[in-house]
Amino acid sequence: MKIQENISLRRYNTFGIDKKARLFFEANRSDEVIQAISHARSLGKKLFVLGGGSNILLVQDIDALVIKINIQGIEKIEEDADFVLLKAGAGVVWHDLVTYSLASGLSGLENLSLIPGTVGAAPMQNIGAYGVEIESVFDHLDAIEIASRQTKRFYKEDCAFGYRESIFKNKWKGKYIITHVALKLWKKPRPTIDYGDIQRTLQELGNLIPSPENISKAVIGIRQRKLPDPKKIGNAGSFFKNPTVPIADFERLREKFPKIPGYASGKFVKIPAAWLIEQAGWKGKRFGNIGVHEHQPLVLVNHGNGEGSDIIALSKKIQSDIYDKFGVILEREVNLISTEQWIEP
Ligand SMILES: Cc1cc2nc3c(=O)[nH]c(=O)nc-3n(C[C@H](O)[C@H](O)[C@H](O)COP(=O)(O)OP(=O)(O)OC[C@H]3O[C@@H](n4cnc5c(N)ncnc54)[C@H](O)[C@@H]3O)c2cc1C
Repeated sequence: MKIQENISLRRYNTFGIDKKARLFFEANRSDEVIQAISHARSLGKKLFVLGGGSNILLVQDIDALVIKINIQGIEKIEEDADFVLLKAGAGVVWHDLVTYSLASGLSGLENLSLIPGTVGAAPMQNIGAYGVEIESVFDHLDAIEIASRQTKRFYKEDCAFGYRESIFKNKWKGKYIITHVALKLWKKPRPTIDYGDIQRTLQELGNLIPSPENISKAVIGIRQRKLPDPKKIGNAGSFFKNPTVPIADFERLREKFPKIPGYASGKFVKIPAAWLIEQAGWKGKRFGNIGVHEHQPLVLVNHGNGEGSDIIALSKKIQSDIYDKFGVILEREVNLISTEQWIEP
């Protein structure tokens, strides 16, 4: 096993935080993941599982064996008149899978174009964008149970998917390493274009028909316009989730703040966290090396040489200010990586 020691994780997290991994190993196959678990056990070291590092905030060096999941490969494993089942290695770059599905004439992933990160991490928080979540096309995943080193299969009903949630972030946190994900994609287009700016962008691009390729093109355009590119400015996308409140609480808020936006979902209303943060005056604020993005207040940024601890301190100030002003609790979406996230092998 080629294990590196004391390496900087700066290029392995999109916030660009310069913390070190005591031990670092890139696993290209499932059996290498199993070997790495055994190795950590024999060294008495804990584990940390790393994908593309686009949803983590490092606050300290990781005194553990970091396993970077690099399992590649995309294959068609089943097909019928309506669907194709595509299975991909957990280390495949998510957008590469989207591109592959579009080139194969399949529909289902177009709205999820350009989300950073890997295939293996996508079910962890049930990635979603522009009205679609991975849950809608998810068939199953294979994961290695850390305690037994056995591979187990999980179907959609096992995963307890929710808004940026799954069982792997909750009850089974730190218990499994995902190695493969299988998605059931439609042969006939199933456009979802009633969310965000998709329709407007399709018109701006020349009245394009809403084919999977064109929706993908529109989504890429919107994302490039609205979201900061981690290659240029460190960030992990939305730092907070959009809060959901009971309808009665939303009505009370609307009496006080008539312009507050909200999207009804059953007995709850989802409020855009970006609106709350902007109203509270945080948009574009800079504090030394870190700050709140100038166009998208939901995104906290590292202007260069920022520390994870400063970003977390800023996020706490924003959370408490939003609570004081609106009585709304903002939950963090990004995974804070401290000792509690290191796994006992
Ligand atoms: C600019 C930007 C825009 C974004 N936009 C969106 C968006 O629109 N929608 C959205 O949902 N997210 C978005 N995100 C967040 C991020 O892209 C997703 O959460 C993505 O799925 C994270 O993948 P990753 O491989 O980088 O995971 P990492 O950040 O490496 O890991 C995230 C968590 O998953 C665990 N993990 C990673 N791989 C595995 C594995 N194989 N097995 C078990 N555990 C694993 C890690 O330990 C960690 O706890 C955005 C991020 C950025 C930077």
